[in-house]
Amino acid sequence: MTVSAWSQPRVAIVTGGGSGIGAAVSRRLAADGAAVAVLDLNDEWATATATAIEADGGSAIAITCDVADRTSIQSGVDETVQGLGRPTILINNAGITPFGRFLEISRESFDQVMAVNLRGTFEFCQVVIPHMIEEGWGRIVNISSSSAQTGNFGHTHYSASKAAVIGLTRSLAKEFGHKGITVNVVPPSFIETPSLHRAADDGQLGSGIDQHIPTTPVRRVGQPADIAAACAFLCRDDASYITGQVLGVNGGRVIV
Ligand code: NAP
Repeated sequence: MTVSAWSQPRVAIVTGGGSGIGAAVSRRLAADGAAVAVLDLNDEWATATATAIEADGGSAIAITCDVADRTSIQSGVDETVQGLGRPTILINNAGITPFGRFLEISRESFDQVMAVNLRGTFEFCQVVIPHMIEEGWGRIVNISSSSAQTGNFGHTHYSASKAAVIGLTRSLAKEFGHKGITVNVVPPSFIETPSLHRAADDGQLGSGIDQHIPTTPVRRVGQPADIAAACAFLCRDDASYITGQVLGVNGGRVIV
C-alpha cells in the first residue's frame, strides 16, 4: 500500500527552482502531488522547470522573483496565491556561492551574499508563514550548506550566511511548532549542479569534481534528486514530529 504524502492538496513554493537542486525539488514535490510555484531570478529556467512538471502531468507555474527584494517576494507569493492557492510548503533554496579570500571580500559582496542567502530566506518565511497559520499547517525546508558546519576555504561570507540559516531555522521551529508548522534545514555537500560545475571550472575544487569521489564515503557525487528526496520527506504529513532539525545530505562527507 502506498501512503500519499498529504491528506489534502498542497501548494509549494520553491525558490531558485529554475536550476540544480531547486529544479529537482520542484519536480519531486510535484510528482508527490503538490502544485508547485517555481520561483527564480531566471524567468526562462523557471518556465523550463514548470513546463517539465506539466509535461509529466503535474501542476506548476513559473514566477520571476528576486529573493533579495522584499517587493518581489511579496508579489511572488501573491501570484502563487492567485494562481494555485495558499502556499503551505516553502523551500528556501535560492542561493549564491561566490568565492573570495577573506581579506579581499568587499562589503558589497558580503551584503549581496547576506541579502540572497539569509535575508531572502528570512523574508520569505515572514511573507509565507501567515498563510500557513491561516491553514493550520506548514512545512518549511531551508537549504543551508555543509560549509556552515565545517567552514570552507574562500567561503567566509557564504559559510556565515548559511550558518545563520541554521539558527534562523531552529528559532522558527520553536516559535511556530504549536501552529502545525515545521521548519527544518538541509545542508547539502557536493551536489552536481551548474553551480558546482562553475566552481570546478573556476578552479575552486582542486583538479575537479571526480577527484573528490574517493574521499566521499558513499563513493559518488551527490545529485539534486538526493536533496529533493530529503526535502520531500520533511514536507510529508507524517514528518510532523520533526522540526528544528539539521538533515545533512552529503554522502557521509560531513558527520556531526
Ligand atoms: P544553482 O544551480 O546555481 O541554482 C540556484 C538557482 O537560484 C539559480 O537558478 C539562480 O538563478 C537562482 N537564484 C540566485 N539568486 C537568486 C535570487 N536573488 N532570487 C531568486 N533566485 C535566485 O545552484 P545549486 O547548486 O542548485 O544550489 C541551490 C542551493 O543549494 C543554494 O542555496 C546553494 O548555496 C545550496 N548548496 C548547494 C551545494 C552544491 O553542492 N550544489 C552545496 C551546498 C549548498 P541565476 O543562475 O540566474 O543566478
